[in-house]
Amino acid sequence: MADAPHLYAAVALNVPLDKLFHYRVPETLREAVTVGARVRVPFGRREMTGTCVKFSDDPGVHSARVRDIIGVLDKRAFLDERMRDLTEWMARYYCCSWGKTLDAVLPSVIKTGAVARTIQWVSAARPADELLARAAQVEKRSPRQARTLRALAAAPGEIAAGKLAAIAGTDASVLSKLREAGFLTLRKEAAAHDPILEFPVERAEPPTPTPEQQAALDRIQAAFASGRFHVALLHGVTGSGKTEVYLRALRLCVESGRQGIVLVPEIALTPQTVARFRARFDRVRVLHGDMTDSRRRAEWTAIHEGLADVVVGTRSAVFAPVPRLGLLVVDEEHDPSFKQPKAPRFHGRDVGIWRARQENALVILGSATPSLESLHNARSGKYELLTLPRRVEGRPLPPVEILDLKSDLSKRGLPPLLSRRLRLAMETALGKGEQVILFLNRRGFNTYISCPRCGFVLRCERCDVSLIFHSDARIARCHYCAYKTVAPENCPVCALPNIRRGSGTQRVEEIVKSLFPGAAVARMDTDSMQARGSHEKVLEEFRAGKTRILLGTQMVVKGLDFPNVTLVGVINADTSIHMPDFRASERTFQFLAQVAGRTGRGPKGGRVIVQTFEPDQPCIRDAAKHDFDAFARRELEERKRYGYPPFTRLARLIFRGRDVGKTQRRCTEAVATLRARVQATSVKVVGPAEAPIRRINNLFRWHALIKAPDPESLREALRGVDRRRAEGVELTVDVDPVSLL
Ligand code: ADP
Ligand code: ZN
Repeated sequence: MADAPHLYAAVALNVPLDKLFHYRVPETLREAVTVGARVRVPFGRREMTGTCVKFSDDPGVHSARVRDIIGVLDKRAFLDERMRDLTEWMARYYCCSWGKTLDAVLPSVIKTGAVARTIQWVSAARPADELLARAAQVEKRSPRQARTLRALAAAPGEIAAGKLAAIAGTDASVLSKLREAGFLTLRKEAAAHDPILEFPVERAEPPTPTPEQQAALDRIQAAFASGRFHVALLHGVTGSGKTEVYLRALRLCVESGRQGIVLVPEIALTPQTVARFRARFDRVRVLHGDMTDSRRRAEWTAIHEGLADVVVGTRSAVFAPVPRLGLLVVDEEHDPSFKQPKAPRFHGRDVGIWRARQENALVILGSATPSLESLHNARSGKYELLTLPRRVEGRPLPPVEILDLKSDLSKRGLPPLLSRRLRLAMETALGKGEQVILFLNRRGFNTYISCPRCGFVLRCERCDVSLIFHSDARIARCHYCAYKTVAPENCPVCALPNIRRGSGTQRVEEIVKSLFPGAAVARMDTDSMQARGSHEKVLEEFRAGKTRILLGTQMVVKGLDFPNVTLVGVINADTSIHMPDFRASERTFQFLAQVAGRTGRGPKGGRVIVQTFEPDQPCIRDAAKHDFDAFARRELEERKRYGYPPFTRLARLIFRGRDVGKTQRRCTEAVATLRARVQATSVKVVGPAEAPIRRINNLFRWHALIKAPDPESLREALRGVDRRRAEGVELTVDVDPVSLL
């Protein structure tokens, strides 16, 4: 800080209070304390770590009691002014203290720490043609150098030294010789095995845009030229070439000297996805939730230093410290995984839009099934609507057949997992050498252990949910807490033997294997995908045709492109319709639209068979007709009638405590206070009520919903809510909730 020394610092602390705390900066720390630095401060009788967010020369009203900062933790602060403003806004909007927001946004990154292993990265120091000319020159004298130069010329950008040496059949000594000769540069970086960056990249000529793609790109280019904040909603059916639009828009952005961020849903962040961006851009960096600290630190540092043109990542990548943000792409913008499930409960898309506004950047929200919130914003003119109504190369969307499971009951009155029609269709497709994908709608699928005679259900001891059976390990596990137990063989109540059954996908797998003994089956669900890289392996084998039937949950839905898949079967379409959530129909429609997107991608075409108990559900009917507009029209009417988003803004209050009585009382009192406060306004409070999942990890849950006509009145209402823990009951505020369970 060049200007006059600051006497006082405002510090954000991770405590549930909406205020900053003022401390004196002692003489000895005047140089070291900067805005964005983490500092140790006294707090009551404790010491805490907080972040200095601004300075003042005035201690405010508490001058008599103001205390000294104890020490500074960071030599170099990652928090710049933009990030400071962004986190300040987030804290206010999502009702979370600024300190907690900062802690969540910059967690491991700013922790200083030794980096365990390092990896060497090689990049070419001369253009490819010079490398090739040199290779020809040294061919006789040093074939190893020649091979290395050729491999480097073919590399898409930076390449790991080990990988380059492997391709060229050489070792590190050759690399250092070439460096001395000025043909390449070496850079050390923290190592961590990352399949995402090791996946081979193919560079192909980009396709010529279709007229629809071109029209969208023209609009995007115009928005770029204006240099102003702008949001475009790219509504394109599956296979319409949205990614190609992103890639070309990113090219415009990078050519103008700015950087792009691409947010993708959690399960879509695969090596294949990232490879599509790496095939077009040399400097791609990746950020996602479960990276090691050192890996994240390396990526973050590189991005911070301007070494990335494009950052691809999950929701937290919205904070990527690119020096000049030009374009933010949110792919599958409707996906619930953009919402952070714990405080600060931010939505990556919405934070991104706020950030883009501050930095005059362009935003492209892409989806085949846009969220009704984004659709509403596009129709009201807040966003620009761009559409890609057709698949590329005139490929049709597959015909979808709805099969009523009620008409296919067995003699004992039980529904089959695979209906006759689906079985026959599988036989036909497999007989022609084609491939099949079967989907289970995981939510609510019957994978728990229950007794058909007495109705006993094995439940978690700590949560109000049934345990999920995992037949691989013969255990039953709770998906909300870590509880697990050995699954009983016989019913513990009435002693009926053999009540254990496989999980949904496992049961279907057994049936499929017995019906089609000749066809190799692969299963893909969270259970079978625990090991790193297993996801890629299963997909590679399926792509290569080694496996003929792929079976899985939502996990396999996203972004896959297999031309030989001519049949997609949905085992159970309706289990998500009955979720106690106003978005249940929307989720079902999205699921079916994505499913249908997985077939008919090649010249052989394809078909979809959807098994359901509720063939007349409007959302299933619309999905079968690929009629998003009809779905949206009806759904929007419903939302308007019942006062749900996009016509209102919601916040959910969740009270949790060990004592059910106290939890209920605190929720009831809070609701009464709130209701009195908003009486004269158009804000409504719904509740109090027991949450649909009434207990998680031994904490009972009560909740209430606040509905407001706009974000300002919602914030005003929330201002009066006391978020402090009292009587062992905690309150969580969830603004714009994506789940009401
Ligand atoms: P979406 O993201 O909308 O589902 P993709 O971007 O994945 O669609 O495109 C589907 C397929 O079409 C991809 O294999 C892609 O390479 C190809 N594709 C995209 N645009 C074109 C084009 N203009 N001409 C030919 N093929 C294209
Ligand atoms: Zn549990």
